[in-house]
Amino acid sequence: MRVLKFGGTSVADAQRVINVSEIAINTSIQVQTALVLSAPAGVTNILVSMLKSALAGSDCKNEFNALDQIIRPLITNLSAQYPKFEGEKVLAFYEDIVSELQRRVSGITLLGSCPDPVAAYIECRGEALSIAIMSELLRAREQQVQVIDPVEILVCDGKFLESSVDIEASIERFKRLTIDPKAIVLMSGFCGGNRQGQLVLLGRNGSDYSAACLAAVSKAQCCEIWTDVDGVYSCDPRAVPDAVLLRRMSYKEAMELSYFGAKVLHPRTITPIAQYRIPCLIKNTLNPQGEGTLISEETDRNLITKGISDLKNVSMINVSGPGMKGMVGMAGRLFSCISRANVSIVLITQSSSEYSITFCVHSEDAFAARSAIEEEFKLELNAHLLDPIEIQDKKAIISVVGEGMRTAKGVSSKFFRALAQANINVNAIAQGSSERSISAVIDGSKVSEAVFSCHTAFFSGRQIIDLIIVGVGGVGSALLKQIEKQRDELKKRNGIEIRVICVANSTSFVKDPVGLKIEQVETMLKGSQNGPFTIEEAKRLVDDSHLVNPVFVDCTSSDSIALSYLELMQAGYHVVTPNKKANTNSYEYYTGLRNIAQKCRRKFYYEATVGAGLPVINTLQNLLAAGDRLIEFNGIMSGTLSYIFGLLDEGKSLSQATKDAYERGYSEPNPRDDLEGMDVARKLLILARECGYKLDLSDIEVECPVDVKYLEGNNAQEVLENLKGADEEFAKKVELAKQEGKVLRYVATIKDGGKCSCGIKAVGPEDPLFKVVGGENALSFTSAYYQPIPLVIRGYGAGTEVTAAGVFSDILRLQNWTREA
Ligand code: ADP
Ligand code: ASP
Ligand code: MG
Repeated sequence: MRVLKFGGTSVADAQRVINVSEIAINTSIQVQTALVLSAPAGVTNILVSMLKSALAGSDCKNEFNALDQIIRPLITNLSAQYPKFEGEKVLAFYEDIVSELQRRVSGITLLGSCPDPVAAYIECRGEALSIAIMSELLRAREQQVQVIDPVEILVCDGKFLESSVDIEASIERFKRLTIDPKAIVLMSGFCGGNRQGQLVLLGRNGSDYSAACLAAVSKAQCCEIWTDVDGVYSCDPRAVPDAVLLRRMSYKEAMELSYFGAKVLHPRTITPIAQYRIPCLIKNTLNPQGEGTLISEETDRNLITKGISDLKNVSMINVSGPGMKGMVGMAGRLFSCISRANVSIVLITQSSSEYSITFCVHSEDAFAARSAIEEEFKLELNAHLLDPIEIQDKKAIISVVGEGMRTAKGVSSKFFRALAQANINVNAIAQGSSERSISAVIDGSKVSEAVFSCHTAFFSGRQIIDLIIVGVGGVGSALLKQIEKQRDELKKRNGIEIRVICVANSTSFVKDPVGLKIEQVETMLKGSQNGPFTIEEAKRLVDDSHLVNPVFVDCTSSDSIALSYLELMQAGYHVVTPNKKANTNSYEYYTGLRNIAQKCRRKFYYEATVGAGLPVINTLQNLLAAGDRLIEFNGIMSGTLSYIFGLLDEGKSLSQATKDAYERGYSEPNPRDDLEGMDVARKLLILARECGYKLDLSDIEVECPVDVKYLEGNNAQEVLENLKGADEEFAKKVELAKQEGKVLRYVATIKDGGKCSCGIKAVGPEDPLFKVVGGENALSFTSAYYQPIPLVIRGYGAGTEVTAAGVFSDILRLQNWTREA
């Protein structure tokens, strides 16, 4: 015999019920087939809610309506498709059930309580309906059908709503049955019978267990669990889209995975089939052709770890105190009292100091566990030999499972590193002596991040970088275009997936936790009613969307945003920016930023603040880290001034050259901002601080290239007009330099000792800055390693494209972060 179990989603509507009948008929051609059915999806939840409402005095109208909306269309659709399907008969059966439910509901309302046998009866009516519908459909399709009653076959012990099956006793019962070899056998899942012959339940999701028990008692050749996914995956495929389908796994692996929360199998399913060595196949009703997952004695040895699972809603109980140390029998008493309270323990750890024992229970059992411990240890608690029992709720257990970890090294280090990378605190750790799983207790709110990060570490190797981009002016929008162009290539070649989660301009923002479509961002922003983006919103995004590696990209020149980096890093963001404001703020803020970055293990990258895309900051940091020391720095660090001064070489006047730069879009919207020299001073301060000098902006000597009176004016036109006044004097300076064979350059300098200045300098042909014109930047470092010939970094150091490229390469450096941490 083959036992095929179909879950709730497999019998959710008429079409799916037909699919199931198809699979059953095809299988029965080759081998005797038994079907174990769940209630149609959603029905058990409705019935459970009906119980609760009845207890609260309601007539359960909503629940009856909800039930009707699932069951009636199911029956009428089947009648419409199969002329021999006696819809009236099945509807009458359904109506009988509804009347019976109504009677019981009024009983509960009247009594104000619900005895367990009544609850058991109500909760498994969905299964009874599934059996009635399926048997009628199979008959309508000319099949012989034999319905068997689990109350008579599965002998159960334990609680009414959560019983266990005694397989040996059930085998005896099964032997007494006469199974018609030509019939398709049907049995409802989720229930059995106690020794008194009363109906009991096997616990929520217990139909898998029903099937496994039927397979064991009938000594079936295979137990097939048909569900709504292609098999067992490395973790819940609904939570992690790149979960890997497992072809084979051992009984023990499946047991650990389900025990620690993989819903695809009820945790008790494996025991009976493993005991009788019955292979178990997990298959998809919506894709019967798929191979599925085979659970048997054998595992796939190529995969060291099989999966990551999570168990939510657990409470962690800590029993500690001076009386624990060396006192024989404490653990025994503790666990005995918990077991007497009928509470099952999910995980245990004990510190080797014997000072405390920590264990976890399902949260619904926490109260019973506490009462049991307090009762058992009343004397010790009163005598302060034990500290008050400590219970932490809202915890979760995350586990890595796999036979291979018994021999492989490094699994646990990878596991804990992955948790640390997701910034997750581990409360307790347990590894079974079987070494088939390692589990960590963590905060319940961090489950998604934990699963995601561990899955990435063990299975996908994919690096996800989540971006929040603020500022979509020149640099921001160029960055978005570059990302869009490069994204597929990065994914294919480097396994890096860039997701733009949020984009904001000064008035509004758009977001999507799984990634925005970049080509639509501009239009979406225009239509967005979200209002201005706030730091609170940024923090919420990390928490609500469970982002593991989020990067805040500040493409504005805003002071206030720059001052929020501290907060953002504390919230979990890396920060990447071409905005110079943070690094040129007070020295306290500058160092505070670095301290926080280190403390929160976040990165702050700002390569594009100096020389746009040129590799300046990183090169300098690497040199200094390797023991180099700056002796002198000279540089042209303004693309606009480089362009203007280059035109002066050719004989143009200052105002003409500036107008030219302005008209070509090489200058700031108001060229005064370039000519004042402050932008250069900020870049110089960033370099000087990088070299270890404790300076502020006010320590930089800034020579304005022209007298400030020539820079006055309310807009670009007025400034350009006014600037003409400086032409004559400027021309003289140019001429003077020319006579010495030199040219004028606006040069920023750091002298040995840290004196910083920027101003006009006449340089001769021997100077590396002599030929730097046309918007180029050049940065010349004379250092202990690079002397007398300096290290020169030269190239276009301004413009939206190269600046965005600098920002982009900083972003890409963050993919290694998860491995480095
Ligand atoms: P059924 O109604 O068929 O019993 P369930 O909803 O109980 O189905 O179980 C199937 C679901 O289990 C899948 O839809 C999936 O979201 C979830 N699941 C959790 N962990 C895993 C895993 N490791 N592999 C496959 N599915 C999993
Ligand atoms: N219908 C029951 C439940 O939802 C049993 C099952 O589906 O396995 O819990
Ligand atoms: Mg299930």
